Amino acid sequence: ETPLSFPRSHFFKLKLKSSPPKIHLPLTCKASPKPLNSPKLSSLSSIKPYIEAQYKPILAGWLCSLVSVYSLSKSIPKIGTFSSSISKLSVTQLRNEGLVLGVFVLARLVATYWQQAFLWEAALSGVHDLRVNVFEEVLQGDLAFFEGGSGVLAGDIACRITSEANDVADAIYALLNTIVPSALQLSAMAMQMLVISPVLSMISAMAIPCMALVITYLGERLRKISKKSNLTMATLSSYLNEVLPAILFVKANNAELCESARFQRFAHSDLSERLKKKKMKALIPQIVQIIYFGALFILCAGSLLVSSGSFDACTMVSFITSLAFFIEPIQSYYWDVVYTVLLCYGITQDIGKAYNELKQGEPAIERLFDLTKFKSKVIEKPDAVDLDYINGDVKFCDISFRYGDNMPLVLNKMNLHIRAGETVALVGPSGGGKTTLVKLLLRLYDPLSGHILIDNHNIQNIRLDNLRRHVGLVSQDITLFSGTVAENIGYRDLMRKIDMEKVELAARTANADEFIGKLPQGYETNIGPRGSRLSGGQRQRLAIARALYQDFSILILDEATSALDSRSELLVRQAVERLMENHTVFVIAHRLETVMMAKRVFLLNEGKLEELNRPTLFSSKYDSLV
Ligand code: ADP
Ligand code: MG
Repeated sequence: ETPLSFPRSHFFKLKLKSSPPKIHLPLTCKASPKPLNSPKLSSLSSIKPYIEAQYKPILAGWLCSLVSVYSLSKSIPKIGTFSSSISKLSVTQLRNEGLVLGVFVLARLVATYWQQAFLWEAALSGVHDLRVNVFEEVLQGDLAFFEGGSGVLAGDIACRITSEANDVADAIYALLNTIVPSALQLSAMAMQMLVISPVLSMISAMAIPCMALVITYLGERLRKISKKSNLTMATLSSYLNEVLPAILFVKANNAELCESARFQRFAHSDLSERLKKKKMKALIPQIVQIIYFGALFILCAGSLLVSSGSFDACTMVSFITSLAFFIEPIQSYYWDVVYTVLLCYGITQDIGKAYNELKQGEPAIERLFDLTKFKSKVIEKPDAVDLDYINGDVKFCDISFRYGDNMPLVLNKMNLHIRAGETVALVGPSGGGKTTLVKLLLRLYDPLSGHILIDNHNIQNIRLDNLRRHVGLVSQDITLFSGTVAENIGYRDLMRKIDMEKVELAARTANADEFIGKLPQGYETNIGPRGSRLSGGQRQRLAIARALYQDFSILILDEATSALDSRSELLVRQAVERLMENHTVFVIAHRLETVMMAKRVFLLNEGKLEELNRPTLFSSKYDSLV
């Protein structure tokens, strides 16, 4: 019986949701706890430059905290005088005292508000810069990092850059708030306490080491729990990133229930880790409070001892100064003491909180910085040149390549020479290394040995963006973004200004103008996430138009027509034939029709290249391979 064949009570549903499914499911998507065997970086020192850059709001915030603490230390004695001598003061005196007190209280409120506003501005702006830098590094990083070599999933990256970066902001705020405002307030209060009653200050100070121990221990626990809950969250979002774009596939395979069970499992581990974290966060202040009640107890006991008159040798010191507590002038400060102790208790709790916030932010900092360590292995030489114009003569010389040290060779001493303006086709079994060849030409990877020449320039001596400008690529996996048709075609100029004439020309050449004209807003129509509002053939023609938008000399079509129906393919083929006249065209295909327009056809198999005579194209050898 399927779980949906009978109606379930609400309770049952709820119960089901709060426990993980018992079915066995492979966990294909799992965020890596620590993708690197890198040396552990001191996470706080790595964000130092980002914090330092925000010196203006930080200084402003700290200045406000100075005002706030000053107003506080001014208002405490006022409260003391007020409460102890209210009966002795005249109405005018009372009113004046009350006015002054009111001004200080108000000053404190305003200053505290601005202190927090400035410090948050510093923390959030710092994290903004950090985020932007990390993302830039990720984009410029190693392609292998995205292609699965590192085990870091896209969802994991997204999670680190979004929610975990916010943890970093909390940590920075906590840090900024501790360094000056809390320390300032604590020392001001301690001074006041010392002035009022040194011994009582000492007694309450005894609680501080105990509290430091407890906070350190709990903080460390919280750090561990926090790291784990970040991981479960990353796993959850990785999973969603993977499955949501494939919803059609899921439905077509009747896999809705299976996927929802898988989701439940990921969501449940996130739930339990998050709950652990919240419980820990609830526990810490309570424990701190117990200790402080201890301190207050000592205070009360001290005064009780004194009032009963039972001194002994051990309590001698505390007794002598506690006596001062009863002396008239100091007695009037009794409320000051209690008030100050209570305030100090609040501040210390703040510091405890800040420390926990920091401990919690630390793994987020580490994980965020991990993302920046996948430096691209493709390095641009400092003396690399720009080529304004190229003819499009491409030479692969003795190229060997593999994706990793222990991986098999994908290309093995491969040679290929494509003359300028020539159209060449490459065929071969899937997994034969055709796309790899393209990645090498674009210098997304560097070959293990051998070199690639364009117009007799080693591509390693050409500036990367210049090289990639001369090569137009329509890749096997079409990538379109949510945005308008024009934005997608003019993608290369998105940061500058999209040239609409070039967009329309490219669309016409790619035979895409016909369907674009029929879209509701033409070139301004939003094509939906990943271009989901277009058909496969339309998406592919849009991708071709995008490749044609730039002034390239070499055009690579990597199975660009594989997903097209025969009519669309004919349209694309016509487009390519038009381009063939004055460009070097490199067609990678597995369909014979596509290959027919090429002057020469090569077969890539087991890392070797072999030129096919036209008649052999139809031989059984070719059929068995493609
Ligand atoms: P083709 O385009 O001819 O189908 P590819 O060039 O994409 O083949 O792949 C060639 C081989 O390299 C395949 O065996 C594939 O599994 C492997 N490969 C491709 N990309 C990667 C990668 N990023 N990491 C490791 N192996 C890869
Ligand atoms: Mg391929």
